[in-house]
Amino acid sequence: MNIQKKQTYTFKSETKELLHLMIHSLYSNKEIFLRELISNSSDAIDKLKFKAITSQKLYENNFNLYIRIMVDKNNNTLKIIDNGIGMKYEEVINNLGTIAKSGTKKFLKSLEKIKQTKNNLIGQFGVGFYSSFIVSKKVSVKTRFAGLNKEEGVLWTSDGKGEYEVSKITKEERGTEITLHLNEENKEFLEEWKIQTIVSKYSDHISIPIELNTYNEKEKTFSWEKINQAIALWTKPKSEITENDYKNFYKKLTHDSNDPLTWTHNKVEGTQEYTILLFIPSKSTWDIWNRENKHGIKLYVKRIYIMDEAEQFLPNYLRFVKGIIDSNDLPLNISREILQNNKLIQNLKKSLTKKVLQTINYLSKDITIYQKFWNEFGLILKEGPAEDLENKNTISNLLRFSSMLSNTPNQTMSLEEYVSNMKKNQEKIYYITSDNYTSAISSPHLEFFKEKNIDVLILSDKIDEWMMNYLIEYNGKKFQSVSKDDQSIEKLNNNTDTTHTKKTVSNSNMNEFLNKIKKTLGDKIKDVRTTYKLKNTPSIVITDANDMSTQMAKLFSAAGQKIPKIKYILEINPNHPLITKIQNTKNQHELKNWIYLLFEQALLAEKNTLENPNKFISRINNFLINCKTNFITTPKK
Ligand code: ADP
Ligand code: MG
Repeated sequence: MNIQKKQTYTFKSETKELLHLMIHSLYSNKEIFLRELISNSSDAIDKLKFKAITSQKLYENNFNLYIRIMVDKNNNTLKIIDNGIGMKYEEVINNLGTIAKSGTKKFLKSLEKIKQTKNNLIGQFGVGFYSSFIVSKKVSVKTRFAGLNKEEGVLWTSDGKGEYEVSKITKEERGTEITLHLNEENKEFLEEWKIQTIVSKYSDHISIPIELNTYNEKEKTFSWEKINQAIALWTKPKSEITENDYKNFYKKLTHDSNDPLTWTHNKVEGTQEYTILLFIPSKSTWDIWNRENKHGIKLYVKRIYIMDEAEQFLPNYLRFVKGIIDSNDLPLNISREILQNNKLIQNLKKSLTKKVLQTINYLSKDITIYQKFWNEFGLILKEGPAEDLENKNTISNLLRFSSMLSNTPNQTMSLEEYVSNMKKNQEKIYYITSDNYTSAISSPHLEFFKEKNIDVLILSDKIDEWMMNYLIEYNGKKFQSVSKDDQSIEKLNNNTDTTHTKKTVSNSNMNEFLNKIKKTLGDKIKDVRTTYKLKNTPSIVITDANDMSTQMAKLFSAAGQKIPKIKYILEINPNHPLITKIQNTKNQHELKNWIYLLFEQALLAEKNTLENPNKFISRINNFLINCKTNFITTPKK
């Protein structure tokens, strides 16, 4: 390929359509193009600094680094100039010719989601270089890679409609100069005040000076004026930073338009020297559930930006935390791979985790604010007990639950509160897991606890069952699922009243009936027995103490895992009129159907589904057809 000559290329596939879509969806927020271009320039300068650590000559003896914005009202152009690393010929094609390179594609993928939330989320995206076409009819890029000859410059131009041209040029200065030929309707971006506002809104924290060419009326000259602060906020003494400074810094760092809930800013000296400035947002981001969700920590070493999304500094369950860490001890040439196995990092991670948990704990002293926090991030924090054994106790104290007696789906109860409300003879912390709050709260497993006024934690988030595998006890009190076989429940019964059990004994035909059930259901069940725990329900199923719980089995099968079928223990309420009626059934065929019905309704209450609902329905319909007059009445409460 002769690269001296001008070459015309077409954008890679989808690009055309994507460009069109993006330009339209971002139009209400078009000023972000400047943020994107400045951020690219800043990245390019960071890359230069980083590479120059091992190769000084890349500076070409020009150590004065800057980003410049140049306005030309006569030609309706806006230039963004930097003396960063620049691009080589192939890089220009790879980086500016493929949308996959930029954040744009990711942005478009999530576009539908964003539209649904109607939030001002769009600003959160790094949509990249292509956003320049939101305001321009034509864009040209002159660039030269640092350290190359002047003749090795590259010119890229495009109208953003499908093709772009690339040719070789001579460029004196290293770095990149982007010229936007603004559309008629976007001339406002040539106004000084407008540019200043946008820069201070988005780019103040960038530690490289951003300079604007301003016209001096008196002297009739142009000069470069620095329009950003260009100092890293976290390096200032705390006493010089106002609350608003912190909030603004947060907003610029995250593109979140909401204030953070709280933050922690610490300079640590001693064996390790570092500064952290970490924020807890007030809203979670759209992608927080994405498994590849980026962590929000930026790593700096001695004030030099090293990388975004440094996930090694905080555990996954704190991935909602945003902020920076600036270390004095890490080597500048550190890579992600090194970060993973570095002892220093392990220690930093420990201290950062402690610090964040402390901050959250502090937040929990204010019930209203903590509720906000919990509603946004509680689900993520629930991953903590499994991920972080070391801090399990601290995390346990931060968890909030809804409970049977508090009678609201809001998760407000702490374990501390639950334990302090425990009954005298109560040994364990009881909980129930289910798909949703409504089915949990009306579960027959709770009838006994309602009667005894013993509270039960209601766990209806998907992650709960998994979390409970790791929460074994809290302050010496063991957790116990009410849908599992357990002695402690029996004890609670013996200690209070025995009316139910007495009646059970008086029912002499019961053993015979249980045998009949066992014979009928065969190996579909593990066992069958009577229970005193039920009040309004004729039968329930429970799992054996060491068997997998219903919710756990659901989680596994939802994840596509094959698991053995659970064999339940069927429990019969001997005092329920339906049981008495069934016991008195003479017709063997009918009896068999009744027994299946008892089993199936118990399964349905436990699992919210049946393997074969049609059989169940037709059984009920048959009973309804044969039903004479007297409907069975349930016992009065
Ligand atoms: P992103 O910044 O998310 O990678 P962009 O669309 O903003 O996506 O930019 C695409 C790529 O183009 C960058 O990754 C970078 O390699 C290159 N690039 C863009 N602007 C510049 C610049 N001013 N200097 C050097 N390279 C740049
Ligand atoms: Mg970018």
